[in-house]
Amino acid sequence: MKWFELPTPCYVIEEGLIEDNLKILRGVMERTGARILLAQKAFSMYALYPLIGEYLCGATASGLYEARLCAEEMCRPLAASGRKPENHIFSPAYRQQDFDEILEYCDHIVFNSWKQVEKFGIQAKAAGKNIGLRINPECSTQEGHAIYDPCAPGSRLGVTKEKFAEGAEKPVFPAKKAGSAAQRRSEKSREPENLLQMLDGLHFHTLCEQDSDALEKTLDAVEERFGEYLPGMKWINFGGGHHITREGYDIPRLERCIRRMQEKYGLTVYLEPGEAVALNAGFLVCSVLEIQGENAILDTSAACHMPDVLEMPYRPVLQGSGQPGEKPFTYRLGGPTCLAGDIIGEYSFGTPLKEGDRLVFEDMAIYSMVKNNTFNGMPLPDIVLRDKAGEYRTVRQFGYGDFKMRL
Ligand SMILES: *Cc1c(COP(=O)(O)O)cnc(C)c1O
Repeated sequence: MKWFELPTPCYVIEEGLIEDNLKILRGVMERTGARILLAQKAFSMYALYPLIGEYLCGATASGLYEARLCAEEMCRPLAASGRKPENHIFSPAYRQQDFDEILEYCDHIVFNSWKQVEKFGIQAKAAGKNIGLRINPECSTQEGHAIYDPCAPGSRLGVTKEKFAEGAEKPVFPAKKAGSAAQRRSEKSREPENLLQMLDGLHFHTLCEQDSDALEKTLDAVEERFGEYLPGMKWINFGGGHHITREGYDIPRLERCIRRMQEKYGLTVYLEPGEAVALNAGFLVCSVLEIQGENAILDTSAACHMPDVLEMPYRPVLQGSGQPGEKPFTYRLGGPTCLAGDIIGEYSFGTPLKEGDRLVFEDMAIYSMVKNNTFNGMPLPDIVLRDKAGEYRTVRQFGYGDFKMRL
């Protein structure tokens, strides 16, 4: 398939660009010993999981399905080559009926409250899992995107210093323990007496598209509020939101942050970026359906195919275009849905746009295919991989059935 033969709309993901990002992340791991995981919620194009699993230590999931996807598409294919990617999971609250299956897939399970630790922790420990608790260091480091700030007042994400101290001393009741009597006896010597002693690690996730200065500030808050608990842990997870593969990101400072936790507390450091793995590695190719005055109607939709454009909101980069008025011909680019606000943005061009022109939006690998939808019965964009040889290969095609089957 040639470039001009690509069906539109389609997401094109470039394997070589993903690999460039993975090399940067692997560099951090090699220099520091930190363990980096793919946060699948940003990018779940599992055709690339074997490649990602070659470079990174594994993946993290927001729930059962992502955990299963990692097990099936990263852990299973790599088992043949002797690699054992880690499979982590965090959820604000687990469902009882999911938990046995989660234990099948995951090796690290992060909880969001002491209540969750009480409810599921003993079962997880009995199954030999690493368990952690998500903390809220109450340190907001960005103002732009309140919707992405888990440190906002009243946040449901993570345990504050006060809540942490309240639950830490709570006794673990043997009556609640799973496993046989013999098993329990053999484990007696290392049986935890309180909830704190059950934990292997702490987890925080408070950043969003940020540089390592924000991480450094957050670590100050973590040490100030939770420092007394760190020496008793095996690991700390710095969450995601680290824009490590962005040009200009301060990697040496990130590595100082990692070493600080390693050297001071003897901790294994995990990072679980989503965006950084697939940043600037994908495109959304679309066509102009018609020019209607100052509006150009495209065969792609902000609301359906790039929802973060409206949710975040932001103006995606469009190849060959300028700011409104910068070039002679300015258009408002919109989708074919009924939503008045289904506008991608205003862009200018050197020549007038016309029906059938192809437009290429940049940085469309992340939070795109994982969030798209068929509102208005919009078709979903195909998923195309451009491999390292420059060949285009259709990974997934969608049709009417994909719209109908969910309704
Ligand atoms: C969203 C999220 C990530 C990934 O964040 P990015 O901004 O994509 O790097 C990692 N961990 C948790 C717990 C998250 O919620």
